[in-house]
Amino acid sequence: MKNNKQKLIETLHEKQKAFFASQITHGNSFRIEKLRALKKEIQHREKDIYQALKKDLRKSGFESMTSETVLVEKEIDKMIRMLPLWNRPQRAKSSLINFPSKDYIIHEPYGNTLVISPWNYPFQLAVTPLVGAIAAGNTVVLKPSEFAPQTGKVISEIMACVFDPGHVAVVEGDASIATALLQKKWDFIMFTGSTTIGKIIAKAAAEHLTPTTLELGGKSPCIVDDSAPIVMTAKRLVWGKFLNCGQTCIAPDYLLVHEKIKDKLTQEIIKQIKKAFGENQENSDDYGRIAHQRHFDKLKASLKNHNIIYGGATNEKDFFFSPTLVDEPALDSELMQEEIFGPILPIISYKTEDEIHEIFKGRERPLAFYIFSKRKKFIKQLFNRYSFGGGVANDSIIQFANDNLPFGGVGHSGMGAYHGKYSFKNFTHEKPIIKRSFWFDLPGRYAPYPKFLSLLKFLLKNL
Ligand code: NAD
Repeated sequence: MKNNKQKLIETLHEKQKAFFASQITHGNSFRIEKLRALKKEIQHREKDIYQALKKDLRKSGFESMTSETVLVEKEIDKMIRMLPLWNRPQRAKSSLINFPSKDYIIHEPYGNTLVISPWNYPFQLAVTPLVGAIAAGNTVVLKPSEFAPQTGKVISEIMACVFDPGHVAVVEGDASIATALLQKKWDFIMFTGSTTIGKIIAKAAAEHLTPTTLELGGKSPCIVDDSAPIVMTAKRLVWGKFLNCGQTCIAPDYLLVHEKIKDKLTQEIIKQIKKAFGENQENSDDYGRIAHQRHFDKLKASLKNHNIIYGGATNEKDFFFSPTLVDEPALDSELMQEEIFGPILPIISYKTEDEIHEIFKGRERPLAFYIFSKRKKFIKQLFNRYSFGGGVANDSIIQFANDNLPFGGVGHSGMGAYHGKYSFKNFTHEKPIIKRSFWFDLPGRYAPYPKFLSLLKFLLKNL
């Protein structure tokens, strides 16, 4: 079996190299035709996608539509609409030093790309990068996560229906398959997943000097100061934190709340949890499940020795884990050191802004950063002071939905960004070209060189 997979990878890699070399992916019309076919097939298989997401993560139809298929379809529409404009050679101002010349940038596809995706939004996080790669003229081998196997299967069927395997192929499997894929030389790798595996990807890519985009995780803080309106803040926090059972890379990881409003906010969060998912969230159709045993066990263990002020209920049968609030966990506990990636919300109070800075000191750069406050100056100061992937004031998670903004991390939360135009750029080498004519050269260009260096220096600096 293992050898069979290795052979399959070998054959696919060769096939995709030949497909790209044929230059068929170079034209806009071919790319647009394929993107249209992909959208049509996604719409045709919509029910199967929702069913698969239900089986893998117990996602509601509403969440499957809003956070998975709609975002992908929107991305396809944007690529189809904008590709002719984005893929035009882009004129650049010429330098007088090269006078006369015509300078421009060609958008060159990298070539054969590898996309590795996670299980938490298993459709959207696999297909959105793929759409960018196709729009930019690349071939793609996609490896979806083994922890969302039903969704992986549907994705594989959709791609097989739309694409020649030389253009796009899906290889299902676990880490061993990803390792085998990484041994091949790719022209670009896009990985979405944990920081730990991101390091493995970066090392493997370095072997071949392959450029990569790493979409990773981290502990995204959420600061609530005493000017924030309690009800609206709690409502938006509960939505952002417990969507997909807390398994969202940009979910608020922990709360830093001004002590004046901590009790009130905590009570309102509990009220909003009950309003959204009922007294017993296990019975709610809108509340998801933890993806797999290892993650379920890790989340359970992380609660040990903490003061649980709400929730903490679990059911191992189907990996139910209730929305859980933890009061003032120690900053050096596992809960406050590692990304939670589940429905546990630590609530920590602060008195002064200096205390916030103390808590952030020495922490890695998060993927997201949230502030709830009516104080404009406070918001501006924090956004400017700290480094993070992307920030939102007075809401959470919504940054993902705006494809006019780059989405990505920095430092431990990743490198590179995508969505909309940034996806096209992500999968494109911007190739600068200068076209000169033969009729003129700047005097003094060739040896023997002129002796009046100061005049030459002046000209070179100012032309
Ligand atoms: P993961 O890193 O465990 O797995 C991601 C992918 O990597 C899977 O396809 C998996 O099969 C593969 N993989 C596992 N071991 C590998 C190895 N040794 N070599 C190569 N590939 C390997 O992540 P996950 O558990 O699927 O997802 C959760 C993590 O992803 C969280 O940290 C979360 O924050 C992050 N995430 C980030 C984003 C983002 O956009 N930045 C989005 C979703 C999730």
